[in-house]
Amino acid sequence: MISQLPATMPVAVFGRRSVTVEDRPVPALEPHDVLVEVGHCGVCGSDLHFVIDGWGRPGSIGGHEWSGVVAAVGSEVTRWRVGDQVVGGIHSCGSCRYCRAGRPTLCTGRGRVGSGEWQGAFAGYVREHEQALNRIPDGLSPRVAALAEPLAVALHGITLSGAQPGQRVLVTGAGPIGSLVTAALLARGVTDVTVSEPGERRRRLAADLGASTVTPDHLVAPDWPSSVVEEPFDAVLECSGRASAMEAALGQLVQAGTLVLVGAGIDPPRFDPNRIILNELVVTGSFCYDADGFADALELLAGGLLPTDLLIEDDDVPLSGLLDAMEGLAAGDIAGKVMVVGPIRHHP
Ligand SMILES: [Zn+2]
Ligand SMILES: [Zn+2]
Repeated sequence: MISQLPATMPVAVFGRRSVTVEDRPVPALEPHDVLVEVGHCGVCGSDLHFVIDGWGRPGSIGGHEWSGVVAAVGSEVTRWRVGDQVVGGIHSCGSCRYCRAGRPTLCTGRGRVGSGEWQGAFAGYVREHEQALNRIPDGLSPRVAALAEPLAVALHGITLSGAQPGQRVLVTGAGPIGSLVTAALLARGVTDVTVSEPGERRRRLAADLGASTVTPDHLVAPDWPSSVVEEPFDAVLECSGRASAMEAALGQLVQAGTLVLVGAGIDPPRFDPNRIILNELVVTGSFCYDADGFADALELLAGGLLPTDLLIEDDDVPLSGLLDAMEGLAAGDIAGKVMVVGPIRHHP
């Protein structure tokens, strides 16, 4: 099958506030690698940090929220065939203390699985280790399946929050991850969800999903570190990455409540440790996925419980439209997940 593949493919190369479409060689496969033709790849907040905020290494090729079709397999691959529909998965060794504890994204051998330099899926093809792929369930559209990665991120935050039906949960920031957290909480029966978001479009999306919404100025912390607000939350999932939201979130917790930091930002927050001590609050970070995160996400998506028509923007964009989409997302003009279509079969 490999002989039918083109020698080169279009890729979107990140620069400082620029994205250029260039041709690059199609990746070569090691024995346990699989080559996947990208069908869809979502634009992530981290992609915005790399391009718009300048965190990234210029010349890199981003995109990690993808789905696609197996186009070729390495000589030792037995579990995948050309034509299989797949999404990415978790790179972990499976044997270190964190993998054994069910926390694969803390794997000490992470990044050693697979071969070659990492290249993202804003490209014609991606190369993956055969163990880091998940099959798209029958009946689930590959376009919707491209939400599996960010949904797995959202589910990990929910796991770490301990949120249960019957509890009050606050989500700060209704960008793509915040809205996936909101939708997943509601789908799992956590019905008392409040979303704090400054942007009107994103607040409307949160309301359409079924959450109560407030603007951030409503989140006023009590004066004394020992006091708790009148209607406190059992858990807060902070998805904006903004220092002010992180600080406000802490002040909204019930005693022994949990703050999960999902969104990454540049400016550090200032927390009053006395509030954490006197109320025995839990503050934790959430990085990537549960061990079964992709399977759980695909199951939730295949079950049709998430309003994916609201969560994904109607208009997909070609590689050449990536920068515009990033600018729109950064400005808050776009509320849902933007899908970039793979350039091999889809021509703009
Ligand atoms: Zn992402
Ligand atoms: Zn490991």
